[in-house]
Amino acid sequence: MNPKIIINIIYIVSVVLFATGLKMLSSPASARKGNLVSAMGMFLTVAATLFSKGLTFQWIITGVAAGALLGIAAARLVSMTAMPEMVALLNGSGGIASLFVGWAVYHFSPDSDTFTTTTIFLSVLIGGVTFTGSIIAWGKLSEKISGKPFLFTGQQIVNIVILVALLACGIVFAINPAANYPVFIAIVGLSLALGVLVVIPIGGGDMPVVISLLNSYSGLAACAAGFVIQNNVLIVAGSLVGASGIILTKIMCKAMNRSLANVLFSGFGSAAQKQGEGIEGDIKPITPQDAFFILDAASSVIFVPGYGMAVAQAQHVVRELGELLEENGAEVKYAVHPVAGRMPGHMNVLLAEANVSYDNLVDMDEINLGIENVDVAVVIGANDVVNPAARHDESSPIYGMPIINVDKAKTVFVLKRSMNPGFAGVQNELFFFDNTRMLFGDAKESIQGLIAEFKNS
Ligand code: NDP
Repeated sequence: MNPKIIINIIYIVSVVLFATGLKMLSSPASARKGNLVSAMGMFLTVAATLFSKGLTFQWIITGVAAGALLGIAAARLVSMTAMPEMVALLNGSGGIASLFVGWAVYHFSPDSDTFTTTTIFLSVLIGGVTFTGSIIAWGKLSEKISGKPFLFTGQQIVNIVILVALLACGIVFAINPAANYPVFIAIVGLSLALGVLVVIPIGGGDMPVVISLLNSYSGLAACAAGFVIQNNVLIVAGSLVGASGIILTKIMCKAMNRSLANVLFSGFGSAAQKQGEGIEGDIKPITPQDAFFILDAASSVIFVPGYGMAVAQAQHVVRELGELLEENGAEVKYAVHPVAGRMPGHMNVLLAEANVSYDNLVDMDEINLGIENVDVAVVIGANDVVNPAARHDESSPIYGMPIINVDKAKTVFVLKRSMNPGFAGVQNELFFFDNTRMLFGDAKESIQGLIAEFKNS
């Protein structure tokens, strides 16, 4: 059979594997296998492409070995809470790779046709923006640079001027690429600058949304690079990444009740946020001993995990406490808010890691339906996602965000270290409610205290 046909058949198989893998990623039960299936697709694609070109493998093997070593080290060393930062770096790598593919093709065939030069322009533009945008996102998330929105007068105008300049350069370049190497260099420089300028005005807390958007851009850049080198599978895989990234971005914005424009342009987090002035009521701390007596008598308990559970790495002890409560006759559920934590699926991943059964995971809408009948809601390092102000306080930055209505449960335990606010920077009126008890301390230590009480009882 013609080798070209064989390559294309392998590409089709790979695309089916990518799509199947993506579908499987949508459920925690099948996500790991989905990842493997997509990785197999990628392996087939890379192998087929390499063998189709009659290449010398010396540099390629060196590159694969270096990449594999870096990938293994990063995957092993990076903690779960730092995963969005790692994704930012991976997106950035995808962006710069697309930029270099476009540049290399232009460098070695400067007189390509208009279609190819247009796709070169797009892969450099989107790849460049993705690269520097991702580096800034990584810096903000890892606090290597300030997470505060960096705003200056006329910022949007500067961005628009750069964008218009880029489009003008793109047209000049596409019309006569061979004579316009300096214009191409200008396109590279302006794209890199634009990536920095569009991300610096966004607050560090919004970076996961930005990263999801940049993930989508890295897919589009790869798609453009696919057109540049006329590789069908790169076009399809890039489109899949582009589409899934934008869908995820939309889901995240919806769960925070914010528009994408609000995330990108509002400078959320720049002004001092309202600190919940006017909240009435007293804080009522509770000890693990007293909390144990209430839990011991409970017949239904829900755990509501949040970012603090990830920080405390409390997921394993939470599962252990859940099992003890079940042995004690209580019905135990884990209520997961779609934007609890700092990345999509953050809590699902942690609970899955601790072997919490998927059957016990309940989403927000479902748990809210019968929450009045829950004896105890145990809030583990969650804050914004259980703040009742989201339902009624129009001046609150989280107003309109759907929340888990733990305040409607009979008793609420809130496990956190202090009265500090969460991501949105607002105080939580839940902490002052009559049915709320604050169990102060690191979430893991507090849960260990409860477990000790159960074991000694
Ligand atoms: P929050 O950020 O609102 O609150 C987390 C709480 O955890 C803090 O109040 C903190 O209080 C507590 N905490 C931190 N460390 C510990 C610890 N070791 N032990 C116990 N408690 C601890 O988290 P939520 O999960 O409730 O909300 C997520 C927020 O992030 C939402 O506003 C959401 O919009 C936003 N967001 C989420 C994204 C996602 O994809 N999931 C993406 C972008 C933003 P203290 O310091 O007193 O301990």
